[in-house]
Amino acid sequence: SLYNMVQDLKGNIRVYCRIRPPFRSDTKNVIDFIGEDGSLVVLDPLKPNKDGKKLFQFNRIFGPTATQEEVFADTQPLIRSVMDGYNVCIFAYGQTGSGKTHTMCGPTGASRKEMGINYLALNDLFDLSNRRKDVLKYEIFVQMVEIYNEQVRDLLTGDSASTSKLEIRSCTSENGLSLPDATIHSVKSTADVLNLMRSGQVNRAVSSTALNNQSSRSHSILTVHVHGKDVNGGTTRSCLHLVDLAGSERVDKSEVTGEGLKEAQYINKSLSCLGDVITALSQKNSYIPYRNSKLTLLLQNSLGGNAKTLMFAHVSPESDSFGETVSTLKFAQRAS
Ligand code: ADP
Ligand code: MG
Repeated sequence: SLYNMVQDLKGNIRVYCRIRPPFRSDTKNVIDFIGEDGSLVVLDPLKPNKDGKKLFQFNRIFGPTATQEEVFADTQPLIRSVMDGYNVCIFAYGQTGSGKTHTMCGPTGASRKEMGINYLALNDLFDLSNRRKDVLKYEIFVQMVEIYNEQVRDLLTGDSASTSKLEIRSCTSENGLSLPDATIHSVKSTADVLNLMRSGQVNRAVSSTALNNQSSRSHSILTVHVHGKDVNGGTTRSCLHLVDLAGSERVDKSEVTGEGLKEAQYINKSLSCLGDVITALSQKNSYIPYRNSKLTLLLQNSLGGNAKTLMFAHVSPESDSFGETVSTLKFAQRAS
């Protein structure tokens, strides 16, 4: 398609920035300018003059009033390319509270209009699969895992008490799965998917009360496998990874001890490994350091090569988040 040709010319990595609406109207907003062309200017609240302005450039900026539908409209072509056999990774990056889960899942108890990319993507895949059914037969499967302290946990196992750690297969096995031991469900409708996402959320919540709000301390990965078969017996296999990353905030090491410090170190390490991999890919380096974290190892077959990557950089607009906002924007700009 034309979209794919344009993507090939531009490279396979795109970065979008999404700015959450401010929680409090009494704080200064650090967003100075949002350009149609993807430029963004933020203003340091401590230097409210020209010196305090920092300019960033992305493929697109979604301001505080952007709807879930608008965000999805610019994501949809990537989702569709999964049906044409491309592997795709979509990441939500940003500090805790910046809107990552809002983009991927929607708010808790979301109405249909508020649903995030996970739901809208699967809805679209089912839709396309139906429309193509006379020429192509698709089968769609999902897995859902989280990575916490460099351990991969199955979120769809019937046994929620199970803490079994999953092994990552770094070379594609015959069945094409990098997590052959994680529960895999065949899905036929968005209702099936909603049920699975709910039970995945429950499994995640169970561990988060025990382990101190783990949900912002772990990466959650919803993987959609698409198997296509055409009338001549030709097959395609591809997958879509929808990743809600752990909060990127830097923890002041002097304030944290024990479990919290360990979590922070694991998160810093895996996010910086992800940044290194994406930077190496965007610079077209010959060596890509996939093996430095579980996250990049798990996604290896879907990062680089023909695969397409989309990173959402989420920022909070409040002035007290300015430091984290700049570090998120720097991270994301490095990737683009
Ligand atoms: P994160 O997952 O990054 O920690 P959340 O997605 O949980 O952040 O967002 C924090 C809060 O802000 C939630 O109550 C969420 O519903 C709200 N929120 C985030 N982004 C938006 C948005 N674009 N529009 C409206 N509310 C939002
Ligand atoms: Mg979240």
